[in-house]
Amino acid sequence: MKRILITGGAGFIGSHLSEKLLNQGNDIICLDNFFTGSKDNIRHLIGNNKFELVRHDIIKEYLAEVDQIYNLACPASPIHYQYNPIKTIKTSVIGTINMLGLAKRCKASILQASTSEVYGDPKIHPQVESYWGNVNPIGIRSCYDEGKRCAETLMVDYHRQHKIKIKIARIFNTYGPKMALNDGRVISNFIIQALKNEPITVYGNGKQTRSFCYVDDLIEGLILLMNSSDDFIGPVNLGNPQEFTIEGIAKLIIELTNSNSNIVYKPLPQDDPIQREPDITLAKNQLNWSPTTDIKSGLLKTINYFHSILNI
Ligand code: NAD
Ligand code: UDP
Repeated sequence: MKRILITGGAGFIGSHLSEKLLNQGNDIICLDNFFTGSKDNIRHLIGNNKFELVRHDIIKEYLAEVDQIYNLACPASPIHYQYNPIKTIKTSVIGTINMLGLAKRCKASILQASTSEVYGDPKIHPQVESYWGNVNPIGIRSCYDEGKRCAETLMVDYHRQHKIKIKIARIFNTYGPKMALNDGRVISNFIIQALKNEPITVYGNGKQTRSFCYVDDLIEGLILLMNSSDDFIGPVNLGNPQEFTIEGIAKLIIELTNSNSNIVYKPLPQDDPIQREPDITLAKNQLNWSPTTDIKSGLLKTINYFHSILNI
């Protein structure tokens, strides 16, 4: 049993992680400023005496006695992280410094939720951890991409300078129940549009690719990484290597929902990466991890979730 702090614990991934770690018998502090997270995601955990919900913003210092920190706080959807880009970069930089300071004082292990966005619009395919990426430092995605890159730098510098126990997970596109209705990312958008029989909004020509990991698989990878031997710090890719075009995903979701929706094509947002697929050899070798949920069963579980909350 450990005392575990989860920042961004009321968000999509954070709420699944809170539930899993609580069920394993740990004491959880779930910290969130509720920018994109919601109490609804963790309402069923409130009242459990091992679960504590704290409204706090990680750009301010936070003091507690903990054994492990999962630093997930940061809006992840492009529309949300671009809403207040300065706040986004402060969250990744000042927020991560605050969490590293806490880890240092408590001698806690800290895991940083990094992202495939550190590879930018990648010139190497599939992406391996040794690739340094192709990131625009002054574009509309930079507040997120460069913020996350700087957070990785802070992690390794605290490790080298102060011997902090760190873990860096490079998370690739993850989906599942509890994504917010207004999240704006592709899987939730397409499912909601399909369930409402509204047009499916494909950006660009839909030939760009992503690789989608079901949330339960990701949570398993994060926990294995956190509890791996101290000398394995990452960065390590966590994602599902099966690659899809966005147009292909739109068609699959129309089929799985039996929807009457048609596809409409909208302009491609600036700096939208053309392709993305994780090489997960490192995760397989070091953590004995690979995702087990195929796209159809993951999508069906997510469709059921949105079906129930949309009440249609
Ligand atoms: P999310 O937006 O659902 O969750 C983020 C949570 O952090 C929310 O609950 C939000 O309210 C909270 N938050 C934001 N800024 C905060 C701050 N300053 N202080 C305290 N709380 C704050 O997104 P998610 O998909 O659950 O992503 C979780 C983490 O995983 C993020 O760090 C994200 O960058 C990373 N990640 C996610 C994906 C993905 O596909 N879901 C991919 C790569 C990386
Ligand atoms: N996308 C789309 N329609 C939408 C939402 C997203 O075609 O309604 C595209 C988007 O342009 C990108 C891909 O789907 O090419 C994944 O977008 P998302 O915002 O989910 O994640 P990210 O771009 O950060 O990988």
